[in-house]
Amino acid sequence: MMDEKLQKLSDWIKESDNIVFFGGAGVSTESGIPDFRSVDGLYNQEYKYPPETIISHSFYHKNPKEFYRFYKNRMIFANAKPNDAHLALAKLEAMGKLRAVITQNIDGLHQMAGSREVLELHGSVHRNYCTHCGKFFDLTYVENCEDVPHCDDCGGIVKPDVVLYEEGLDQTILSKAIRYISKADILIIGGTSLVVYPAAGLIDYYRGNKLVLINKDSTSRDSQANLVINGNIGEVLGEIVLGREGK
Ligand code: ZN
Repeated sequence: MMDEKLQKLSDWIKESDNIVFFGGAGVSTESGIPDFRSVDGLYNQEYKYPPETIISHSFYHKNPKEFYRFYKNRMIFANAKPNDAHLALAKLEAMGKLRAVITQNIDGLHQMAGSREVLELHGSVHRNYCTHCGKFFDLTYVENCEDVPHCDDCGGIVKPDVVLYEEGLDQTILSKAIRYISKADILIIGGTSLVVYPAAGLIDYYRGNKLVLINKDSTSRDSQANLVINGNIGEVLGEIVLGREGK
Protein backbone atom coordinates (compact mmCIF):
# COMPACT_ATOMS: atom_id res chain seq x y z
CA MET A 1 0.00 0.00 0.00
CA MET A 2 1.36 3.35 -1.04
CA ASP A 3 1.17 6.23 1.40
CA GLU A 4 -1.87 8.45 0.78
CA LYS A 5 0.15 11.51 -0.23
CA LEU A 6 2.36 9.50 -2.56
CA GLN A 7 -0.74 7.98 -4.11
CA LYS A 8 -2.12 11.46 -4.74
CA LEU A 9 1.09 12.59 -6.45
CA SER A 10 1.15 9.36 -8.44
CA ASP A 11 -2.41 10.00 -9.67
CA TRP A 12 -1.59 13.58 -10.64
CA ILE A 13 1.50 12.44 -12.56
CA LYS A 14 -0.52 9.80 -14.43
CA GLU A 15 -2.94 12.44 -15.70
CA SER A 16 -0.41 15.10 -16.69
CA ASP A 17 1.83 15.77 -19.66
CA ASN A 18 3.06 19.13 -18.40
CA ILE A 19 5.13 18.56 -15.28
CA VAL A 20 8.00 20.87 -14.39
CA PHE A 21 10.55 20.03 -11.73
CA PHE A 22 12.56 22.55 -9.75
CA GLY A 23 15.34 21.17 -7.57
CA GLY A 24 18.10 22.19 -5.20
CA ALA A 25 21.06 20.70 -3.38
CA GLY A 26 18.94 18.01 -1.71
CA VAL A 27 18.47 16.28 -5.07
CA SER A 28 22.17 15.45 -5.20
CA THR A 29 22.88 14.62 -1.57
CA GLU A 30 21.73 11.04 -2.19
CA SER A 31 24.48 10.87 -4.83
CA GLY A 32 27.03 11.74 -2.16
CA ILE A 33 27.33 15.43 -3.04
CA PRO A 34 27.02 17.55 0.10
CA ASP A 35 25.64 21.08 -0.03
CA PHE A 36 28.80 23.20 -0.38
CA ARG A 37 27.28 25.75 1.98
CA SER A 38 27.27 23.24 4.82
CA VAL A 39 30.10 23.99 7.20
CA ASP A 40 31.32 21.00 9.20
CA GLY A 41 34.13 20.50 11.69
CA LEU A 42 36.56 19.48 9.01
CA TYR A 43 35.73 22.63 7.12
CA ASN A 44 36.68 24.92 9.98
CA GLN A 45 40.15 23.42 10.16
CA GLU A 46 40.68 23.76 6.44
CA TYR A 47 39.34 27.17 5.43
CA LYS A 48 39.62 30.64 6.91
CA TYR A 49 36.51 32.02 5.21
CA PRO A 50 32.87 30.96 4.96
CA PRO A 51 31.88 29.20 1.71
CA GLU A 52 29.81 32.18 0.52
CA THR A 53 32.93 34.36 0.70
CA ILE A 54 35.24 31.95 -1.12
CA ILE A 55 32.71 31.25 -3.88
CA SER A 56 32.27 34.93 -4.68
CA HIS A 57 33.31 36.91 -7.71
CA SER A 58 35.60 39.27 -5.81
CA PHE A 59 37.32 36.46 -3.88
CA TYR A 60 37.89 34.53 -7.10
CA HIS A 61 39.72 37.55 -8.53
CA LYS A 62 41.66 38.36 -5.37
CA ASN A 63 42.67 34.82 -4.49
CA PRO A 64 42.13 32.33 -7.33
CA LYS A 65 44.43 29.79 -5.73
CA GLU A 66 42.36 29.55 -2.54
CA PHE A 67 39.17 29.69 -4.60
CA TYR A 68 40.28 26.66 -6.62
CA ARG A 69 41.43 24.77 -3.52
CA PHE A 70 37.90 25.09 -2.10
CA TYR A 71 36.21 24.53 -5.45
CA LYS A 72 38.09 21.33 -6.21
CA ASN A 73 37.69 19.91 -2.70
CA ARG A 74 34.10 20.88 -1.95
CA MET A 75 32.29 21.39 -5.25
CA ILE A 76 33.66 18.82 -7.68
CA PHE A 77 32.57 15.21 -7.29
CA ALA A 78 33.60 13.68 -10.58
CA ASN A 79 32.69 10.13 -9.55
CA ALA A 80 29.14 10.90 -8.39
CA LYS A 81 26.37 8.95 -10.13
CA PRO A 82 22.71 9.91 -10.65
CA ASN A 83 20.31 8.66 -7.95
CA ASP A 84 16.66 7.64 -8.21
CA ALA A 85 15.51 11.28 -8.29
CA HIS A 86 17.57 11.97 -11.43
CA LEU A 87 16.55 8.67 -13.02
CA ALA A 88 12.84 9.15 -12.28
CA LEU A 89 12.83 12.66 -13.77
CA ALA A 90 14.63 11.45 -16.91
CA LYS A 91 12.03 8.69 -17.23
CA LEU A 92 9.13 11.13 -16.87
CA GLU A 93 10.61 13.27 -19.63
CA ALA A 94 11.06 10.23 -21.89
CA MET A 95 7.39 9.31 -21.23
CA GLY A 96 6.36 12.75 -22.50
CA LYS A 97 5.14 13.87 -19.07
CA LEU A 98 7.87 16.20 -17.88
CA ARG A 99 8.75 19.33 -19.84
CA ALA A 100 11.82 20.58 -18.00
CA VAL A 101 14.13 20.19 -15.05
CA ILE A 102 15.20 23.46 -13.52
CA THR A 103 18.12 23.01 -11.17
CA GLN A 104 20.33 25.00 -8.86
CA ASN A 105 22.90 22.20 -8.93
CA ILE A 106 26.07 22.36 -11.00
CA ASP A 107 26.98 18.66 -11.06
CA GLY A 108 25.47 17.63 -14.42
CA LEU A 109 23.79 14.56 -12.89
CA HIS A 110 20.43 15.20 -14.59
CA GLN A 111 22.07 15.02 -18.01
CA MET A 112 24.02 11.94 -16.94
CA ALA A 113 20.69 10.30 -16.04
CA GLY A 114 19.35 11.08 -19.52
CA SER A 115 17.39 14.31 -19.03
CA ARG A 116 17.51 16.55 -22.08
CA GLU A 117 15.76 19.79 -21.14
CA VAL A 118 17.80 20.86 -18.12
CA LEU A 119 17.98 24.52 -17.14
CA GLU A 120 21.05 25.02 -14.99
CA LEU A 121 20.45 28.27 -13.13
CA HIS A 122 23.88 28.21 -11.52
CA GLY A 123 25.89 26.77 -14.40
CA SER A 124 27.92 23.57 -14.55
CA VAL A 125 31.31 22.28 -13.41
CA HIS A 126 31.50 20.46 -16.74
CA ARG A 127 31.92 23.68 -18.73
CA ASN A 128 35.02 25.81 -18.27
CA TYR A 129 36.37 28.62 -20.40
CA CYS A 130 39.63 30.49 -20.79
CA THR A 131 38.92 34.03 -19.60
CA HIS A 132 41.36 35.37 -22.22
CA CYS A 133 40.65 33.50 -25.49
CA GLY A 134 37.41 31.67 -24.64
CA LYS A 135 38.72 28.15 -25.32
CA PHE A 136 36.54 25.41 -23.81
CA PHE A 137 37.83 22.93 -21.24
CA ASP A 138 36.15 19.93 -19.63
CA LEU A 139 36.10 19.00 -15.96
CA THR A 140 39.03 16.58 -16.25
CA TYR A 141 41.28 19.36 -17.52
CA VAL A 142 40.46 21.56 -14.52
CA GLU A 143 40.93 18.68 -12.09
CA ASN A 144 44.29 17.74 -13.55
CA CYS A 145 45.73 21.24 -13.35
CA GLU A 146 47.63 21.95 -10.18
CA ASP A 147 46.18 24.94 -8.29
CA VAL A 148 44.71 27.43 -10.76
CA PRO A 149 43.99 26.01 -14.24
CA HIS A 150 45.50 27.92 -17.14
CA CYS A 151 44.71 27.73 -20.84
CA ASP A 152 47.09 25.48 -22.80
CA ASP A 153 46.88 27.85 -25.77
CA CYS A 154 47.28 31.34 -24.38
CA GLY A 155 48.01 30.91 -20.67
CA GLY A 156 44.85 32.75 -19.53
CA ILE A 157 43.06 31.67 -16.37
CA VAL A 158 40.32 29.09 -16.92
CA LYS A 159 37.07 29.91 -15.11
CA PRO A 160 34.26 27.45 -14.49
CA ASP A 161 30.89 28.33 -16.06
CA VAL A 162 29.41 28.50 -12.57
CA VAL A 163 27.49 31.47 -11.20
CA LEU A 164 29.45 32.82 -8.24
CA TYR A 165 28.08 34.96 -5.43
CA GLU A 166 27.88 38.62 -6.57
CA GLU A 167 27.33 37.44 -10.14
CA GLY A 168 23.97 37.65 -11.90
CA LEU A 169 22.06 34.69 -13.30
CA ASP A 170 21.93 34.07 -17.03
CA GLN A 171 18.81 36.01 -18.03
CA THR A 172 18.01 33.74 -20.98
CA ILE A 173 17.94 30.66 -18.75
CA LEU A 174 15.99 32.50 -16.07
CA SER A 175 13.32 33.67 -18.55
CA LYS A 176 13.01 30.16 -19.92
CA ALA A 177 12.57 28.78 -16.41
CA ILE A 178 9.86 31.35 -15.68
CA ARG A 179 8.08 30.41 -18.93
CA TYR A 180 8.07 26.71 -18.05
CA ILE A 181 6.90 27.34 -14.49
CA SER A 182 4.14 29.77 -15.43
CA LYS A 183 2.69 27.29 -17.94
CA ALA A 184 3.15 24.14 -15.85
CA ASP A 185 0.27 21.92 -14.86
CA ILE A 186 2.19 20.32 -11.99
CA LEU A 187 5.19 22.01 -10.37
CA ILE A 188 7.26 19.65 -8.23
CA ILE A 189 9.85 21.32 -6.03
CA GLY A 190 12.38 19.10 -4.31
CA GLY A 191 15.52 19.23 -2.24
CA THR A 192 15.52 22.94 -1.57
CA SER A 193 14.61 24.89 1.53
CA LEU A 194 13.33 27.68 -0.77
CA VAL A 195 15.17 30.42 1.05
CA VAL A 196 17.97 30.99 -1.46
CA TYR A 197 17.39 33.27 -4.41
CA PRO A 198 16.08 32.58 -7.03
CA ALA A 199 14.12 29.59 -5.74
CA ALA A 200 11.91 31.68 -3.52
CA GLY A 201 11.01 34.02 -6.37
CA LEU A 202 10.48 31.48 -9.13
CA ILE A 203 7.79 29.59 -7.26
CA ASP A 204 5.54 32.68 -7.40
CA TYR A 205 5.25 32.38 -11.20
CA TYR A 206 3.33 29.13 -10.88
CA ARG A 207 -0.39 29.60 -11.57
CA GLY A 208 -1.73 26.06 -11.25
CA ASN A 209 -3.24 24.20 -8.34
CA LYS A 210 -0.84 21.26 -8.11
CA LEU A 211 2.20 22.67 -6.36
CA VAL A 212 4.11 19.80 -4.77
CA LEU A 213 6.89 20.25 -2.22
CA ILE A 214 9.12 17.26 -1.46
CA ASN A 215 11.68 18.00 1.20
CA LYS A 216 13.13 16.33 4.27
CA ASP A 217 12.36 19.32 6.46
CA SER A 218 9.47 21.73 6.34
CA THR A 219 9.95 24.96 4.36
CA SER A 220 8.63 28.50 4.65
CA ARG A 221 6.37 27.82 1.64
CA ASP A 222 4.64 24.67 2.89
CA SER A 223 1.37 26.55 3.44
CA GLN A 224 1.39 27.66 -0.21
CA ALA A 225 1.71 24.10 -1.53
CA ASN A 226 -1.17 21.83 -2.54
CA LEU A 227 0.78 18.77 -1.46
CA VAL A 228 3.69 18.57 0.97
CA ILE A 229 5.66 15.33 1.22
CA ASN A 230 8.34 15.14 3.89
CA GLY A 231 10.91 12.68 2.68
CA ASN A 232 13.95 12.03 0.52
CA ILE A 233 13.29 13.13 -3.02
CA GLY A 234 15.03 10.05 -4.43
CA GLU A 235 12.96 7.68 -2.32
CA VAL A 236 9.68 9.45 -3.11
CA LEU A 237 10.18 9.67 -6.90
CA GLY A 238 11.82 6.24 -6.91
CA GLU A 239 8.72 4.67 -5.40
CA ILE A 240 6.22 6.53 -7.59
CA VAL A 241 8.03 6.56 -10.93
CA LEU A 242 10.51 3.68 -10.82
CA GLY A 243 8.38 1.29 -8.76
CA ARG A 244 10.96 0.87 -6.00
CA GLU A 245 9.84 -0.67 -2.73
CA GLY A 246 8.50 1.98 -0.35
CA LYS A 247 9.74 2.22 3.21
ZN1 ZN B 1 43.17 30.88 -23.74
